[in-house]
Amino acid sequence: MTRSTCTPDVEQLSPDTRMIHAGGGSAYGIVNMPVFRASTLLFDTVQEYEDALVRRSPSVSYARYGTPSTQAFEKAMTEAEGGYGAAVFPSGLAAIVVALISALGAGDHVLISNAVYGPTRNFCIKTLSRFGVTATFFDPLISDGLEALFQTNTRALFLESPASMTFEVQDVPRLAQLAHARGCKVLIDNTWATPVFFSPFSHGVDISIHSASKYLVGHSDAIMGVAIAADNATYQQLRSAWAEMGQTASSDDCFLALRGLRTLHVRLKRHYQSALQVAEWLRERPEVARVLYPALSQSPGFRIWRRDFTGASGLLGIQLKQFSAAAVARMANGLKLFGIGASWGGHESLILPVNPANLPAMQPDGPLLRLHIGLEDPDDLLRDLEAGFARLTL
Ligand SMILES: *Cc1c(COP(=O)(O)O)cnc(C)c1O
Repeated sequence: MTRSTCTPDVEQLSPDTRMIHAGGGSAYGIVNMPVFRASTLLFDTVQEYEDALVRRSPSVSYARYGTPSTQAFEKAMTEAEGGYGAAVFPSGLAAIVVALISALGAGDHVLISNAVYGPTRNFCIKTLSRFGVTATFFDPLISDGLEALFQTNTRALFLESPASMTFEVQDVPRLAQLAHARGCKVLIDNTWATPVFFSPFSHGVDISIHSASKYLVGHSDAIMGVAIAADNATYQQLRSAWAEMGQTASSDDCFLALRGLRTLHVRLKRHYQSALQVAEWLRERPEVARVLYPALSQSPGFRIWRRDFTGASGLLGIQLKQFSAAAVARMANGLKLFGIGASWGGHESLILPVNPANLPAMQPDGPLLRLHIGLEDPDDLLRDLEAGFARLTL
């Protein structure tokens, strides 16, 4: 028996409801799309195999090009962001790299926010340059000033808003408008906001990219990426680069990401509520020089954040007053609820000392810490942080 979920007029449904059913419809009455582990796919006749080769998508000839599990997640993300089509990747970084390659060729120029995720920056400096692509890194808070940076060969603009270390909020609609006037594609790393809090395609973006390892999977147990294209032409280019470069993601991980997507809106509301409470508490602390969280009304990014976003996730930064590295280590090492580690977006809270000297967009003042506010009771987190601050001045 096959019963796809009843599809009421999706336009009338709230985004939260759509997230529950996005990409839905399974087989045999099973609620969730099962994990289809596969490499070879068998066909009844040579003709059917040859037809599948030609059509490749949505029909599949070989599991690298997709399984029902990977396609269900791609479909769900396409619906969640309101795009044309999506492609899954083995990591968020792979999604970024292939999306950039899909938009660029030898002799082209790309404009990149100076505050992007470090490995994104490295890829442009080290690898893209070897293939004859030049890059200009710009102040993430630039607005009309971007206009002067376009060259005749500029083909793409890469944004990350807010930046995941320094939290500058970019004027995406304005920057996208300037790029489109020059025929450039606009790419954004939307990992921080997720589809729940920022809709890239209604703000002029052509390709939205996520590290699914963060909030989409949401439980710190898989590495995966996804890129979604706004329109058919952009999707065909992305899909072609994806196929040619051998990209895919395992059905197991797509199952986890699809499961994560079902509770994404609920988890993110809690991350938002708790992070805001923690951010407001941190702002009052004498040890803290600055809190980097766009949802704080005192934050420099607040105006644009409130205009373009519907919420804020659980990742924020704090810049401490002058404390030694040893004092900061003493503070972080003794925390009971905050793990020390990279990545974020799972159910658990994290803390990571960041060296501001490595961050192009940051003034090297006091030590910078990045916090991920997880799904614990925020009052417990505040007690843990309070004890941590006491260790700063031991
Ligand atoms: C983690 C992260 C990535 C890379 O994702 P992986 O899945 O770890 O490859 C890209 N962008 C941002 C903002 C990230 O935080």
